[in-house]
Amino acid sequence: MELQQKLAVLADAAKYDASCASSGSIKRNSKNGSGIGSTDQGMGICHSYAPDGRCISLLKILLTNFCIYDCSYCINRASSQIERARFTEDEVVNLTLDFYKRNYIEGLFLSSGIIQSSDYTMEQMVNIARTLRKKHDFRGYIHLKTIPDASPELLRLAGLYADRLSINIELPSKKSLKNLAPEKNSVTINQSMGFLKENINESKESRKKHATISNVNRTQKSKFIYSPAGQSTQMIVGADSSNDAKILTLSNKLYNGYQMRRVYYSAFSPIPDASLNLPAKSPPLIREHRLYQADWLLRFYGFNVNEITPIPKRLAPDMRHHNDVNQNIATPDSHSGNGMLDLDIDPKLSWAIRNRDIFPVNINTASLERLMRVPGIGAIGASKIIKSRRIRPLRVHDISRCNLSLKKIAPFIEALDANPANKYLEQANLKQYFLNLQPTQMALF
Ligand code: SF4
Repeated sequence: MELQQKLAVLADAAKYDASCASSGSIKRNSKNGSGIGSTDQGMGICHSYAPDGRCISLLKILLTNFCIYDCSYCINRASSQIERARFTEDEVVNLTLDFYKRNYIEGLFLSSGIIQSSDYTMEQMVNIARTLRKKHDFRGYIHLKTIPDASPELLRLAGLYADRLSINIELPSKKSLKNLAPEKNSVTINQSMGFLKENINESKESRKKHATISNVNRTQKSKFIYSPAGQSTQMIVGADSSNDAKILTLSNKLYNGYQMRRVYYSAFSPIPDASLNLPAKSPPLIREHRLYQADWLLRFYGFNVNEITPIPKRLAPDMRHHNDVNQNIATPDSHSGNGMLDLDIDPKLSWAIRNRDIFPVNINTASLERLMRVPGIGAIGASKIIKSRRIRPLRVHDISRCNLSLKKIAPFIEALDANPANKYLEQANLKQYFLNLQPTQMALF
């Protein structure tokens, strides 16, 4: 098969992988005249969008889409009737360098189906990264999708050459993994994630220790680098019946337990000749978006999962005291409590509407954390409010001076001159007020 045809097949096969962001790596550059590439500018891979709206990179490829596994949800599974292709190691290296030199890409995102064995496949991926780094002094971004049951030695080597490693958690529950990907093992996945975490932490410690030692040269320093952009993972959403509460609970564990840099959510896409265990339709893409918003609240806004996803009604009453949102007001705004995020409005707004008894928030006295819980006020907006109120107490219209939307925020705040929340918080259908604020897409014809 011609190289170009292989590229078409293997780049298309890689588009289902959502975990392609490249932030957070260390800076490398070639300003001293040696080496190829840099992670300085934009820190990573160029992104593009597939027709289905997914974010893909220009050189985001599989080494091969042959696979000995038969995961039901995967287009590349062994039983799938698709066109197959396989790059050689040299082909991937040369493509990366050629594309880089033509300014098409800023790095490589490499994943693969499993051929012969996990170790056999992983070894080839490691060889590609090693050749790029060692032989060609490539200093661009490299993300390797790691095969969880590859040997620890290969996982260790992968981290020496890649900026980021990732292992897909695949599905939100062990049961679903067993049903839909019987050859994969959740214990092995967790062990490998733990292994990566330990190595990443050790390398951070070594770098810190040696940062102050001036006579450590570049080669010696590179020995302390292990996957500097950390590890990430991806979860398929909508291939099983797991609700958003379950998905976010798992994400929370992954962030806390394995220090994930990112958990990516990928809406399940129906595939040809799919197993009857899979849904016929993909979930609405907005579900993926709401999960990312909720994920952000977990990581940066101090929310916990129970606050974001209403507690399922089947939980025993003694579990309910763990939930900060069990005081739902019986209004049309109340969410059904099925552990799903509201698709109509963002999770913070949904939480605020369910918990309106803790509002209004006084913008002149509230802490940063409390301000950040007001829908429409983010971390930057909350800082601006705090800075502004040091000069003088704030009135309602000062909100607009902080570049914040008064219409969105007014229902939840009180200020020096007025308490606009009074008018809104009593409304049975407060959600409708916000739905009316949402812009509508104008028709082209
Ligand atoms: S191992 Fe990966 S490539 Fe192979 S079938 Fe499963 S998900 Fe697809």
